[in-house]
Amino acid sequence: MNARKKQPNDPHAIRIRLREQMVDISERRARIDHQIGHREEALAADFSEQAIELENSETMYALDDQLRNEAREIQAALARLDLGTYGLCEACGAGIDERRLAALPAIRFCVRCATKAERS
Ligand SMILES: [Zn+2]
Repeated sequence: MNARKKQPNDPHAIRIRLREQMVDISERRARIDHQIGHREEALAADFSEQAIELENSETMYALDDQLRNEAREIQAALARLDLGTYGLCEACGAGIDERRLAALPAIRFCVRCATKAERS
């Protein structure tokens, strides 16, 4: 057994966590795809129901978009792990706060740059 103490920024642990998130996202997307397919099939003959179903599938598509973005961020984080730039802010190059990384493992920017980007 490996008795090495786990560091908060252990690349191996981060990789596992990112992969788990990826699987989770894939599963959620598969469910959404299924629901979207289902709705389009069943697009009701009833007029008022149609409106509701269209609105629902728009929400589904928006959710699917969001998950696709999250998947892209995770892929990018995995690539940064390979490159050895994981945990460094993409804007200023400073190390990202460990607690921030622990909460958001795929985050690209440090707090300062993220705040700056939000304001502009
Ligand atoms: Zn920064």
